[in-house]
Amino acid sequence: MQRQIYLDHNATTPILPEVLDAMLPWLSPSGFGNPSSSYSLGKAARNAIEAARLSVATLIGASPEEIIFTSCGTESIHSAILSALSLHPDRHRIITSSVEHSATLKLCNNLARKGYQIVRLPVDNHGLLPLNQLADSLDNETAIVSLLWANNETGVLFPVEEIAALCHQHDVLLHIDAVQAIGKLPPLPLHSLPGISYLSLSGHKIHAPKGVAALYINRRSRFSPLLFGSQENSRRGGTENVASIVAFGKAADISLQNLESTSAHIRKLRDQFEDYLLQNLDGIHINGARNQRLPNTSNISFEGIQAETALLLLDKEGIYCSAGSACTSGSIAPSHVLTAMGIPPERARSSLRFSFGKANQPDDAILAASTLTRIIRKIRSENPSTLVISRI
Ligand code: PLP
Repeated sequence: MQRQIYLDHNATTPILPEVLDAMLPWLSPSGFGNPSSSYSLGKAARNAIEAARLSVATLIGASPEEIIFTSCGTESIHSAILSALSLHPDRHRIITSSVEHSATLKLCNNLARKGYQIVRLPVDNHGLLPLNQLADSLDNETAIVSLLWANNETGVLFPVEEIAALCHQHDVLLHIDAVQAIGKLPPLPLHSLPGISYLSLSGHKIHAPKGVAALYINRRSRFSPLLFGSQENSRRGGTENVASIVAFGKAADISLQNLESTSAHIRKLRDQFEDYLLQNLDGIHINGARNQRLPNTSNISFEGIQAETALLLLDKEGIYCSAGSACTSGSIAPSHVLTAMGIPPERARSSLRFSFGKANQPDDAILAASTLTRIIRKIRSENPSTLVISRI
């Protein structure tokens, strides 16, 4: 059987066997109780949810009462932004960036159609956020600032501690989209960052199933729910997805226990991968600030190729990565993240994202890089007229 190398962990991650084992009892005839029921079957489910809440809180450096479970990162982000709008009906401005995940961008586009003013802060050529732009935009018309911690396409990090300090100073609510950062970076000192009101994370990025996520709500911040009901301390209605929440808790425990070793492992593989490509191919560009990135992510433009062609050939060789973010693959529009960084559309269309994970084998990086080198050379040799390689 052909060896498969999965290099798309920013899209989603495989469920770990221990995580599956932890969730299965809650899908069986003995574990189906409703956590809101007062008899023992319900209480067992309630206790399992509360244990998971503690695990998820510990992973991000929060307290359990600051965590609500949701159905996905997208729901967490929408809950945070819509909460701010409902708490401040007199404020009509939302500050975000031009490189956010589509979960934020599409909500903001929708709110713009309803009359809200959306400020999309620009980034520089490295994908970094100039803080003075944020400082200049904050005012008492601003309902909320919503920014990424780590970009899903390039891995570039925003300075969340400085952003939190600025928002605190201006008394403006701040939501941080930490979906890609959690489990790859050490937790933020949330209790000494009162500026962060809300923070989103998602289970399927840390080896739990899809369809379970969480929102951190700072204990000092007010919150207005998106879904009304008595569950989650009346902050998120709907009967809880017990099995997936238990799985999320287990994945959080494992993630925290292995944070240092995982981070070192993925960084080593990512760096080996990039070094091999830089040594063996001309006309390639690594997109995003190389020293302020997630340890697992590599976004690379290959002059003279279309990303979709390379994706298909890599797929045939059992290597899985993506062109732009998962949500935009299949379309040929250049990535909004790369174009916001000033990368010309042609180069953006030649970009692939590789994201390593804990399950990658030590030789995956070199094997994938050598196959990719062969594929890029083949595509270029078949279309020599489109190619003017710059020496880098
Ligand atoms: N935010 C970022 C940075 C992401 O990468 C993703 C998913 O790719 C999301 C939000 C949305 O999370 P979910 O897929 O759980 O809705």
